[in-house]
Formats: sequence, structure tokens, C-alpha cells
Amino acid sequence: MIKIALIAHDGKKASMVDFVLKRLDFFNRHNVDIVATGTTGSMIVKAGVEKVQRVASGPMGGDAEIGAMVSRGEIEAIIFFRDPLDKHPHDVDISMLMRLCDVHNVPLATNYTAADILVSYYTLL
Ligand code: PGA
Repeated sequence: MIKIALIAHDGKKASMVDFVLKRLDFFNRHNVDIVATGTTGSMIVKAGVEKVQRVASGPMGGDAEIGAMVSRGEIEAIIFFRDPLDKHPHDVDISMLMRLCDVHNVPLATNYTAADILVSYYTLL
């Protein structure tokens, strides 16, 4: 099983939906598990991703929950469409999540092109 976490800030949610819609075959593969923060999770379910484990919304601790999963070795990769042009009340959680990815050597794609490369790689597995 390949467990991938999806997170998108509000200014990037449309971009995340577009990304997922173009790759539904991959995200619905039997060996791919998706976990997402609350609102991102609802949106990708509407876009057609069939099984999504939803944690709390980012500002309510969802990024922290995904960070805990990273520290337990449960996450293979993260696609996190951060909005670099906006402020976020949960900046410390975001930094924590990015730090934990580096601690545990978990690939983290923070923009569309990086995510495209990441999905292309996992599609080959
Ligand atoms: P959301 O959280 O998917 O619940 O909006 C994302 C975030 O802001 O980190």
C-alpha cells in the first residue's frame, strides 16, 4: 500500500481539485490510500476520489495529525499545495509537518509541478 497525504490551502484548493481530477485513475488505484485534511478531503471526494481518510481541518490540527502519521512511518509521500501568498494561523503546524518530512525522509511536493513528478514516479510502482 502507498499512503499519500493531500493538503491544500484555501488559495490552492481549486488547483488541488484540478490536479486530482486529471489523475483519478491513480488516486483510485487499489494499492493507493489517501489521507487528507478536512476541507481538502471533502473536495477531493466530490472530485471523485473514492476512499479518503479525513483528519481534522488544517487550522484545527489536521496538519499536526498528518505529522504524527509521518513520525509513525505511516505516510509514503505528501502533496501539500501551500499558498505562499497568504498568512496561516497554523504556521507552526505547517513548519512542524515539513520538518518531520525531512526528519523521516518523506517526499513532500509543495507545488503542482513537483506533485506531477511525484505522482509520475508512484504510477510506475
Ligand atoms: P483544510 O486544511 O484542508 O481543512 O482546509 C488545509 C490547511 O489549511 O492546512
